[in-house]
Amino acid sequence: MPEKESRQIILKGIGGSPGICIGKAYLLDKEGVDVIKKYFIPGEDLKSEKNRFKSAVKKAKDELHGIIEGIPDDLRETANILETHAVLLKDKMIYGKTIEIIEKEKINAEWALKKAVSDIRDMFKSMSDPYFRERAADIVHVSELITKNLVGADYSGVRDIDKRVILVADDLSPAETSQIQLERVMGFVTDRGGITSHTGIIARTLEIPAVMGVDLATSLIKNDDLMAIDGLTGEVVVNPTEETLVRFVKHKIAYEARRAVMTRGIHLPTRTLDDCYIQIMGNIELPEEVVSVKNYGGDGIGLYRTEFQYLSRAGFPTEYELFDKYRDVVEVMAPKPVTIRTLDINGDKALTYHSTAQEQNPALGLRGIRYCLKRTDVFKTQLRAILRAAAYGKVRILFPMISDCGEIREARRLLNEVADSLEKEGAGFRRDIEVGIMIEVPSAVIMADIMAKEVDFFSIGTNDLIQYSLAIDRGNRHVAHLYEPLHPAILRMIKTVSDAAKNSGIKVFMCGEMAGVPLYMPVLLGLGITELSMNPSSIPGVKYVITCLNHADTEAFAKTALGQSTAEDVKTLLHDTYEDIFSGSAEIPIPAFHGENNGEDN
Ligand code: PEP
Ligand code: MG
Repeated sequence: MPEKESRQIILKGIGGSPGICIGKAYLLDKEGVDVIKKYFIPGEDLKSEKNRFKSAVKKAKDELHGIIEGIPDDLRETANILETHAVLLKDKMIYGKTIEIIEKEKINAEWALKKAVSDIRDMFKSMSDPYFRERAADIVHVSELITKNLVGADYSGVRDIDKRVILVADDLSPAETSQIQLERVMGFVTDRGGITSHTGIIARTLEIPAVMGVDLATSLIKNDDLMAIDGLTGEVVVNPTEETLVRFVKHKIAYEARRAVMTRGIHLPTRTLDDCYIQIMGNIELPEEVVSVKNYGGDGIGLYRTEFQYLSRAGFPTEYELFDKYRDVVEVMAPKPVTIRTLDINGDKALTYHSTAQEQNPALGLRGIRYCLKRTDVFKTQLRAILRAAAYGKVRILFPMISDCGEIREARRLLNEVADSLEKEGAGFRRDIEVGIMIEVPSAVIMADIMAKEVDFFSIGTNDLIQYSLAIDRGNRHVAHLYEPLHPAILRMIKTVSDAAKNSGIKVFMCGEMAGVPLYMPVLLGLGITELSMNPSSIPGVKYVITCLNHADTEAFAKTALGQSTAEDVKTLLHDTYEDIFSGSAEIPIPAFHGENNGEDN
């Protein structure tokens, strides 16, 4: 009797790393780590319990270093992530706190660690920026390494896989992901994780298809189930029908052909068909990310978000600490520009060591430039570090959350004051750097013609501009469906800003997530945006689409788009007009937006 055919199941996750693969499932077992028991330790044994914890940490550290040593030079980014994890092992929040809990509560190390980690994780997870939320995952991964040593569990499973499979796991840590043998593991699917997780970053570096945040993957998929996964759209099909298989194979062929074309032109200047040069730059949060901007052929750093260096620490960083990191980035990118944005703290990223009074609406509170103009000591330290780093390459300075001309004047006054004092001290620095402002508050759009006279460039921050103009909390997934970059109101605002910049002869960039979406290129170019900055991994797709466009045509297109009533109309217009380019849009990496549910429910 023929075997009963298994039913096709379609699951949806987040595209973590583009690519398509078809193969059999292999479920990774992490037995032992999830079931941790709490027990009390008598006073006289507390010392040895703490020592047990310390040896587990040391073992985890040695294991990480062993993995790092085996990583080839061209995967530097992966090694950097694991080095960060090695440092996290000894972080006061994890290490110090666990020891403190063992001592105070007289409980076993595994339980104390679990408790410490759960507090830190909650703090990170309450931040609405997906990037910072994902850092909670790093803490969990690091703690799992220690727990594994404490309970004596062995899940070196990833290394031991001996057949061609698609890995299915609750979550994969960066350490596990980096041990994937590319000739064995074709791709992976995880219940947890999101686009900005370090696991996702490593998967993209290894160029292995990955779908993350699938939720029920490990419950619904069984070992040896046939699967087809699309790391771009986040589609996972278990027991695919013949029809589905044909569809995936076709997509795979098209995807690989297009990727070959994209990578071929990646390091060439990006020009439209009618020879208009468009500058494509990368956004970074950490200095290490500079490598991927270079690898993806970025023409500079259009947005260096500097908040990360102020977070997860006990106090403000010193001028030298800041300078040291900025100089690294500037030197690596030189002679290409690095746009350093001054501290944009307190919207969704709060400093634990300097809590201002609890704000009801932090996004409308003492955020960004408002905070810096109040804490001029903190601001001036950063400005000094930026001007000193400027001596090592091409630096631009960018002020966030500007809503009023007075703020620009005050920020510039402080910048001059700092330059004067550096000059007096005889320090190495550069004074004549370009000064720009983020256009991300509606009042700045309306005042753009006046503000253009006060600065050297504008950078449109669509993430916040959309949030503030359409009244949609960018971190609230219940209104995420209303978060519409193509809303005609947003397009009109971009046009206002771009015209104001053009009339005053200053540059206008865009650095919000909107800038990294290939589908939006015809309208953005047509509205006069010729410098874009985005997540490094979005660069190839955007570059490719631009090379298929005629700039003069996009201008005519943008005029029509400005006359539409809804975002849906603009989208239809885009698809109809640029059908040739976007008919296979599934093959072009289109990243998720800020505010989408990027693994929010981890
Ligand atoms: C923006 O608001 O578009 C932006 C780029 O800044 P951030 O996402 O850091 O607020
Ligand atoms: Mg912003």
